[in-house]
Formats: sequence, structure tokens, C-alpha cells
Amino acid sequence: MTGHAEFRRRARAWLAGNVPADGLPDPDTDHGFRAHREWERRLFDAGYSGLSWPVEYGGRGGDVLHEAIFAEEYERAAAPVRITRPAQRFLGPTLIHYGSAEQRRRWLPAMLRADDIWCQGFSEPDAGSDLAGLRTRARWDGTGFVVDGQKTWTTYGRFADRMFTLVRTGEPGGRHRGLSALVIDLRSPGVRVRPVRQLHGQTGFAEVFLDSVAVPAENLVGPRDEGWRVALTLLSFERGPDAGAPERTARRLAALAGDVLAADAAPGTVRELGDRYARLAALRAYVHRRVGSRLCGEPVGAQSSLVKLFSARLDADIVRLGVEVFGDERLAEGTPEFLDYWHSRAGSIYGGTAEIQRTVVADRILGLPR
Ligand SMILES: Cc1cc2nc3c(=O)[nH]c(=O)nc-3n(C[C@H](O)[C@H](O)[C@H](O)COP(=O)(O)OP(=O)(O)OC[C@H]3O[C@@H](n4cnc5c(N)ncnc54)[C@H](O)[C@@H]3O)c2cc1C
Repeated sequence: MTGHAEFRRRARAWLAGNVPADGLPDPDTDHGFRAHREWERRLFDAGYSGLSWPVEYGGRGGDVLHEAIFAEEYERAAAPVRITRPAQRFLGPTLIHYGSAEQRRRWLPAMLRADDIWCQGFSEPDAGSDLAGLRTRARWDGTGFVVDGQKTWTTYGRFADRMFTLVRTGEPGGRHRGLSALVIDLRSPGVRVRPVRQLHGQTGFAEVFLDSVAVPAENLVGPRDEGWRVALTLLSFERGPDAGAPERTARRLAALAGDVLAADAAPGTVRELGDRYARLAALRAYVHRRVGSRLCGEPVGAQSSLVKLFSARLDADIVRLGVEVFGDERLAEGTPEFLDYWHSRAGSIYGGTAEIQRTVVADRILGLPR
């Protein structure tokens, strides 16, 4: 990989010449997903996938700063949402950490090229915040596993080829024991994927029903019955610093600021805008600090919960200010603000809800009594 400054310059130039001017169709539609897969292949061919992954698994051998620089430039260029985001941010890194050499060779290059689309199958109808309460069971039949159960809220589940799941393999006792991480091929007999229509009308989400699905032994990731450790590692990657997030927020805020100032806003509204800009500056500084810590080899840690809380609240408050100033019509269906509104609502839920993040902060950063 080139040095960081040169890498930023090249990435910025490539994005300026290649980001589709009119965006891509919605990835939650069949034709939109195909267009996003093609876009992912272009990114891979241009060398902008798996930036910090080992070269032998299709990565570019860079570091977390290369990742962070590209994430910033990508958002500044208003480039399309990445359908390989779960794979690149947390599923692949977990496989690099816990997978065998054979598993990494088998799965990682195809994951980066978007030949295989991966999804995360953790949540169940009765297990979200309380993930260890999951009920999907994998029985050992002497040669492999047989899986029965149901997963839900599976992002890109409708289109995915493989699902990284957490299932129960041992007897309930200690609830965090007896869980295992399994990779399930979603084309296997016994898998039924049912799209979920979300409030904004899209159907990329899915429920995944598993009915006596045979999963080979070599798809077990990490030691059997010790999947909780694998899950915690995965969640720490998922909640890790996202250097693109402040730039995404900055774009939304700049759009709102333009509209507010053009509308000759009241001084109170300008003050509220200033509040959002100050919080954005704090978020950006904190994310940079977290990226610096990762670069020095420090673990992701509980601080990522702070970033997520702060970022989700700021996004929601930007949308709220727009509605206060311009009324509900700002959220008319099909407008960018309409999608921002729903995304800002989801930000306090996915990857662990705001309440759960607050508990992590109280417990592990502030040391408050349980
Ligand atoms: C956009 C989006 C994408 C997602 N993608 C995926 C995916 O790809 N794969 C996947 O596996 N899951 C995914 N999820 C699911 C997500 O992880 C869960 O929705 C989340 O963990 C919350 O679980 P739940 O929905 O079961 O809510 P619950 O856990 O039932 O929580 C309901 C409410 O109770 C509160 N609550 C629960 N327990 C506590 C507690 N101990 N203390 C205080 N308050 C509590 C919660 O904060 C929440 O407000 C996604 C969710 C969203 C919104």
C-alpha cells in the first residue's frame, strides 16, 4: 500500500471519476442489488476493498488508517451505500480472527469480490438485546450439524448467499455457554427466506427459517460451545469506529443548513444549527482519536458504545430540527430526508440499542454499580 497522504489523493481522484453521478437504484430491490454488486466489483478491481486485510485473502495489506481515509473520502464523495459493509466491517474481520486458514481461503476472497454476499444471523424473534437467550438449535448428528430455528431482521437476507449465525449447540445451563458460531449456506435445503417490508416500504430485510438444515462440520467458526466469545469479538468490530459516519452526518447537516439559511431562519434556529455543528466537530474528533487508538493496536473497547450513542442522537436531532423548521412535509415520501428520518430511527436500534449502549458505558466506562 502507498503512504497515507498519497493514498487519500488517489482515492479521492478515483472516486471523483467513478462515483455514479445519479447514484444507484435502491439495493433493497432486485435490480438495485445487482447494480450494487457490480459497483462492489469495480471497487474491488480498483483496490478499494479489504484495505487492511491480508493480501493472501484478497485484501490490500494496509492498516486501519487506510480504511478510515477511504471511508471518509467515500462519504464525502456521496458514493453508494456498500452492500459488503457487514462483510468488510465485522464478518470478515471475525473470520480473520477466529477462522481456520482453510476457512479464510475458502470464504474471504469471494466475500471481498462480492461473489458471495454475507449477512449476519444473530437476532431472533425473542432474542435481540438478550442475544444469549437465542433458541435456534444445532444438533450434532455424528458427521455435521442439523439446524432448526428462526432468525430475523437479517440485513440483505433476501439476497445473501451465506449467513454468519450464532446457534445453541450445548445444553442450557450457563446461558453464555453452549453457543457456537456457524456459517450457513442459504441455498441449502430447509432454508426459507421471507422478506420483511419495512416502514419505508423496502424489503431488503428478511426473516430466515431453518428447518433441519444440514451444515458441514467445517463451517463451525471457533471452538464448539464457545461461540459467545466469537460473538463478542464480532460485536466489537461492528461497534468499532466508523470514520465515514461523521462525513455522512456532515452531508446531511450541510443540506439542512443550506435550506435553513436560504429560508431566512430565526436566530434560535441558527443557534440550533450551531449546536449540531459543534456536536459534529466533537464526534469527528472522537472518531479520529478512536482510529488512532486502533492504529496503536488497542482493542475497540467500550468507547465504541459512546461513539454509537452520540452519533445516533446527533443524526436524529438533525432530522428533528429540519421538521421543526419546515414541518412534516420535509419528510414527504421519496425525499432524501424521508430516508434519513428512517435511518436515524434505526440508528438507535441496530448493533445494540441505545439503552444497551448506555448500560455498557455505565458499567465499563463509568464503573457505576449494576
Ligand atoms: C436497521 C437494522 C438492521 C439490523 N440488522 C440486523 C442483522 O443484519 N442481523 C441481526 O442479527 N440483527 C439485525 N438487527 C436487529 C438488531 O440487532 C436488534 O433489533 C437489536 O439488537 C434490538 O433487539 P430487539 O429488536 O429484539 O429489541 P428488544 O431487545 O426486544 O428491545 C426492545 C426495547 O427494550 C429495551 N431493552 C431491552 N433489554 C434492555 C435492558 N436490559 N435494559 C434496558 N433496556 C432494554 C431495548 O433498548 C428496546 O428499546 C437490525 C436492526 C435494525 C434496526
